[in-house]
Amino acid sequence: DSGRIAFLGLGHMGEPMAVNLIKAGFDVVGFDVVPAAVEAARGAGVPCVDTAVEAATGAEIVLTMFPSGEILLDAYRGVDGPGLLESAPANTMFLDCSTIDVAQAREAAELALAAGHRSADAPVSGGVVGAEAGTLTFMIGAEDADLEHIMPLLEVMGRKLVHCGGHGAGQAAKVCNNMLLGISMIGAAEAFVLGEKLGLSHQALFDVISTASGQCWSVTTNCPVPGPVPTSPANRDYTPGFAGALMAKDLGLALNALEHTGVAAQLGPLAAQIYRKFADEGGAGRDFSGIITDIRGRSQD
Ligand code: NAD
Repeated sequence: DSGRIAFLGLGHMGEPMAVNLIKAGFDVVGFDVVPAAVEAARGAGVPCVDTAVEAATGAEIVLTMFPSGEILLDAYRGVDGPGLLESAPANTMFLDCSTIDVAQAREAAELALAAGHRSADAPVSGGVVGAEAGTLTFMIGAEDADLEHIMPLLEVMGRKLVHCGGHGAGQAAKVCNNMLLGISMIGAAEAFVLGEKLGLSHQALFDVISTASGQCWSVTTNCPVPGPVPTSPANRDYTPGFAGALMAKDLGLALNALEHTGVAAQLGPLAAQIYRKFADEGGAGRDFSGIITDIRGRSQD
């Protein structure tokens, strides 16, 4: 019998994740700073309270699903009032599932431990569809001893759970994966535009790449041209899927991590720049595979 879960951040991802926990019989109390999000969550069956402090009081697990690390650290410490760390009973598990900076995740863990709590980072991949279906992948950064405490929840919300190492390791794995994803999508899009210019059909090039050495998720699952993979966002005018704004955010986190570690990467920063521009110039709400439209648009007739 697990104790109460305070679920903070009931947005696109958080709300369906909280709903799945409730369906599985967990005792969940929700909170969000945006009243409309609270109303929607209540409508979906999530009992909510009016303040973060109220949610954290009496919680055994504080689960956060926030837009950024700044927001997480502010909520932990409190701004103009008591924060979550102060409000929760001793030895509460602070489980953050947001995608944030590796350095901020480590800082959050240090703050939680210093306040007499436990901590784990468990960012996800799989998007809103995975959150609704309970099929997310969780990348977990936690001490071994804390795993048994969080696994029952993560098993409800996810399908694949990977324990990547200690505090911050989940965010580290996520940032590496998404940097590669951004780079590979740009590569896939450039290959398809080049194929068009050389007179290849999309299907012919797909049939080769998908079974040859260029094979990657950006081609086989999220193919940037319509046709070869009927479920890819290209077939529905690039409705996400994985929105350009989120790819730009994740590549920003990759940039920070590259700088922090001194890695001599060239493609990661370039991908970050390309997706920042894509998001700022109309691509924020489009699937990130829509980058192919930009490449085509800038190419000569
Ligand atoms: P969202 O903006 O829809 O939801 C975030 C929610 O947090 C909002 O409702 C916001 O009001 C709330 N919030 C902000 N500050 C708060 C506070 N102090 N207390 C309580 N609530 C607060 O974002 P989302 O799409 O649900 O994404 C959440 C996280 O998951 C992000 O870190 C994102 O990068 C990551 N993620 C998203 C997806 C996706 O497809 N949407 C996929 C993988 C990972």
